[in-house]
Amino acid sequence: MKTTVCVTGGSGGIGQTLLKYLLQSFYVKALFRKESATSEKYKQQGCQIILGDLRDEESLMNLVAGAEFVFHCAALTGSFSWQEAHEVNVEGTRKLALAAAKSGCKRFIHVSSIAVYTGAALKGEVYTEELKLQETSTMELYCLSKLRAEIALKEVAEKHDLEYVILRPTCVYGPAVPSYTLAPLNAIQKRQPILLKGGEGLLDVVYVDDVVKAMLLAAHSPKATGEIFNVGGETVTFKELYSYYGRMLQRPVRHISPAMANVVVSLFSLQNRESGKSLKWYFERQEKSEEYPSTKAKKLLGYTPQVPLIVGMLKTELWLQANGYIPSKRHIFRGVISDYRFSPCAVVHPTTEEEIVQIIQEAAQQGLKVRAIGSLHSLTPIPSTEGICIVLDKYKNVLSIKGSLVTVQAGIKIWELNEILAKHNLALPIIGAIDKQTVSGAIATGTHGGSLYYKSLSGYVYALRIVRADGSVVEVDSSQDIFNAIAISMGLLGIISTVTFTCVPAFSLQSKSYAIPMDELLQKFGDIHQNNKYVNIRYRPITDNAHILLINPALEVLQENRGWQPVVKTKMERRLSKIWGTTWLRIFGSYKLNWLQRWNTKQNEGTVHLCPSGRSDFVLTHFDATLDDPIPLSDIEIAIPYSQVCAALTVIRNHYHKTQKYPYIYIQIRCCAEEDFWLSPSYRQSICWLEFWEYPCTGKLFEEIIELLKPFNFRCHWGKEIPIDQEYLKQQYEKWHNFIQIRQEWDSKRMFSNPCLDKYFEL
Ligand SMILES: Cc1cc2nc3c(=O)[nH]c(=O)nc-3n(C[C@H](O)[C@H](O)[C@H](O)COP(=O)(O)OP(=O)(O)OC[C@H]3O[C@@H](n4cnc5c(N)ncnc54)[C@H](O)[C@@H]3O)c2cc1C
Repeated sequence: MKTTVCVTGGSGGIGQTLLKYLLQSFYVKALFRKESATSEKYKQQGCQIILGDLRDEESLMNLVAGAEFVFHCAALTGSFSWQEAHEVNVEGTRKLALAAAKSGCKRFIHVSSIAVYTGAALKGEVYTEELKLQETSTMELYCLSKLRAEIALKEVAEKHDLEYVILRPTCVYGPAVPSYTLAPLNAIQKRQPILLKGGEGLLDVVYVDDVVKAMLLAAHSPKATGEIFNVGGETVTFKELYSYYGRMLQRPVRHISPAMANVVVSLFSLQNRESGKSLKWYFERQEKSEEYPSTKAKKLLGYTPQVPLIVGMLKTELWLQANGYIPSKRHIFRGVISDYRFSPCAVVHPTTEEEIVQIIQEAAQQGLKVRAIGSLHSLTPIPSTEGICIVLDKYKNVLSIKGSLVTVQAGIKIWELNEILAKHNLALPIIGAIDKQTVSGAIATGTHGGSLYYKSLSGYVYALRIVRADGSVVEVDSSQDIFNAIAISMGLLGIISTVTFTCVPAFSLQSKSYAIPMDELLQKFGDIHQNNKYVNIRYRPITDNAHILLINPALEVLQENRGWQPVVKTKMERRLSKIWGTTWLRIFGSYKLNWLQRWNTKQNEGTVHLCPSGRSDFVLTHFDATLDDPIPLSDIEIAIPYSQVCAALTVIRNHYHKTQKYPYIYIQIRCCAEEDFWLSPSYRQSICWLEFWEYPCTGKLFEEIIELLKPFNFRCHWGKEIPIDQEYLKQQYEKWHNFIQIRQEWDSKRMFSNPCLDKYFEL
């Protein structure tokens, strides 16, 4: 037979969480003042509902009858008179304790509060359980009633030999918790100022489940009898805590100056002395940095808080959304270049791998999808999710530099990494045309540069750590076969946590650019790529000229970028240049003004490459300032086997000359060396990338290209448009089925999927 336990305060946040745990292993009786949806919910789960009030001895006797443990969570909070506080919080506790003693309960677990420390005889910054407490004339009603409730309980316990434990939780937040969840949420919603000055005051916050775990430990631990325990979690600033609610509501958290706060307190006091006192207490706490250590609970109860703020807030956010406190579509993310958007149900910014693990475990428990996003520079919605969106902007430290091996957290951006590498005389051997991507986003999609000698960026990953759907963390290095599945996997196998790159000694580059006719390019294609380290070619069918950029190691080591300064534009200038640029694109897109496009192209040939020499990353990225703030174009990038690229280019060239309908943006041509990653477009063959853009996107251009290039068994860039069906794509990758199998093993419930990728990876 199950042990019987009873609970007061079953409709509050702590009470409801406690009921959830107790119902798993006990027969539970719970006191409710009236029938409600909440009482009905627990009744359905097998809880015996006792209707009554803490002031009513009969209902209390009824509640405790047969119960071995009494969990007393009920108390008046918010605004009330002293008489009510006295009757419910103080005398209610006394009556319940008496009833428990009379009916022979084994132990009484009383939920008190750190509010009692306002009665500490010695005021300080650190409040421990043994401090002497006494009433003062300035004490706020709630604090006083909680202090007196503790005293009442001790009096009854002593007289009637009742075992008791008192818990003093710090600032409790979580589902249905009024004080540090519903109340601030409501205030932010109403745009009330709740932060004093900068909100830098510290508070100890504890997630409601941790409080309940401490209560359960207190019920069973032999060392707990007659003891008082602080039950805390972690220390944060008021600003940090309330910003979570601000983000959930997409509202700013408003601040108030100390002078203004005094005025408001005085006005409240005029209306009602006690509300004035409460408000004063609230603001005063923000000026202090008090500590309520849980050392004793750790030592005697074995208590350790399990839920970090970020995870507690995620659980709270999901609960608030499910219960209609916050709107469902509140976070909107947009692609930086493409105009896709998505709206996840929650957004988290983890700072440790352990937090990533807990987020994934929470998602698994709730049956939600998860994806990490980088800097959203992909041109299709592959980062998107309607589940939990992990943003790694606070997870971007360099963890170690051991010789050429550099380990970083996955959210670091390539330019940030480059700056640090340069200080250590190191560099990445290759990067793409921009450096704004996160390392994990770049690796996930196989971001590449332009070189027959270098692989994609993933090819310089020595090892990585990935968090899988079951919350396990796997560390894999490039000597293992499974690494070839993970290195380019678009986030489908898990969340990449850390990445170790094999770097090279810092180097400088110099560039040279010139235009040649396409005939000449086709003749010299092999020589150009074999004789130069990095090559980038832009072919413009309308003039039939190719613009060639050759980049090679500089003899002299240059620390700074020479001859080029980034163009810093005002917002207005950027807008105007975009309007100008898109207008030109529209004019050229009409196909009717080929003479104008030809003329315009000729003007620009030979003038694009602005960075002749400098540090490797400057030359490889910033040679085209327009990439810093690009026009939103649709983009496909198609990988052709290197041996067939001249044939493919000839097909494209002939097509344009025949139709006289020229693309209004150049075709970019870059090579990449072969690598072993299963989903790499350069899997076991060197390739040449052909990149096409369209504005405005009609899809027609891409359809044409696809039809023309199909015979070349092309593969596509995972971060750009993939206008091809699953069947064709599948056939291009020898290890497609191996990848699907690993995915099935690692993520059988498709936690990391999204509709954009399902098109290709679902059967
Ligand atoms: C102007 C411009 C220039 C570009 N130039 C090049 C170029 O020269 N060469 C090239 O190859 N590409 C280029 N790209 C494409 C770009 O490099 C890729 O799309 C890259 O993925 C973007 O990185 P990101 O950090 O923005 O990632 P996002 O676009 O945010 O995400 C990309 C993918 O990575 C996943 N992801 C992100 N972080 C993690 C993680 N921690 N764990 C698991 N999965 C994760 C996301 O879920 C998503 O599927 C360019 C794009 C733009 C806009």
